Amino acid sequence: NLPIIYAVTPTYYRPVQKAELTRLSHLFRLVPNLFWVIVEDAEETSALVRNLVNRAGLSNRAVLLHAKTPTDFKLTKKDPHWSKPRGVEQRNEALKWIRKKVKHEPGHAIVYFMDDDNSYSVELFEEMSKIQRSRVGVWPVGLVGAMYVEKPIVENGKVVGFNSMWRPERPFPIDMAGFAISTDLLESNPSAMFSYEVQKGYQESEILRHVTTRDKLQPIASNQILVWHTRTEASKLDNETKLVKKGLPQSD
Ligand code: UDP
Ligand code: MN
Repeated sequence: NLPIIYAVTPTYYRPVQKAELTRLSHLFRLVPNLFWVIVEDAEETSALVRNLVNRAGLSNRAVLLHAKTPTDFKLTKKDPHWSKPRGVEQRNEALKWIRKKVKHEPGHAIVYFMDDDNSYSVELFEEMSKIQRSRVGVWPVGLVGAMYVEKPIVENGKVVGFNSMWRPERPFPIDMAGFAISTDLLESNPSAMFSYEVQKGYQESEILRHVTTRDKLQPIASNQILVWHTRTEASKLDNETKLVKKGLPQSD
């Protein structure tokens, strides 16, 4: 009798996309109560993502959406990766879909914002399933904020602070991978969503300030790292143009 975990994954086309989504899809096969809300940063959904979901046997517990990031907010090759918020449009589209879905399905459910390039343990989802109705669960995240681990500080089962060193003055100084929300909080707080109008590093605080307060946070897996904020290097593909020049067939 596990709650459904709606895992929201913004994703965009680049050479490593298929590799990232293959890793995620195989994780999903090991976690029966996950429902995958994939939101492509594109004008329409793609055959690449659809085929990948079908081949992994996940088509009956996945939905494929799309929401294109407006040009003004889209990162270009020249921009440093942190200079613009990523995933805002896509996560908000997913929230719209989830709010409609849970309206007709009264059971307890959870929303987790799950980027396509992080590294997740299967155990994280077993722990996350313990999040209570009307609560937000929080847990440690590895390799983020220029530390081995950023984590909530827990005393007597309560979150009393956070160990983050980067912008510790944020209302909720935690990474997107470090919390999940009981969906009834989204229903009771219809204005909870992400925004382009907030400072760098404040997306997490932006949604959380609408649905909870620090003293109500539910600590989960406090002494373990079950998710890492890994980032995949962009692949070098210079030799592909050389193949074309030589008139040889390309690799993909
Ligand atoms: N993303 C996207 N469009 C973009 C850039 C990123 O949909 O133009 C997605 C990306 O696939 C990931 C999430 O947004 O699932 C967060 O992006 P990223 O991992 O690059 O952010 P970071 O880890 O650097 O915060
Ligand atoms: Mn990332």
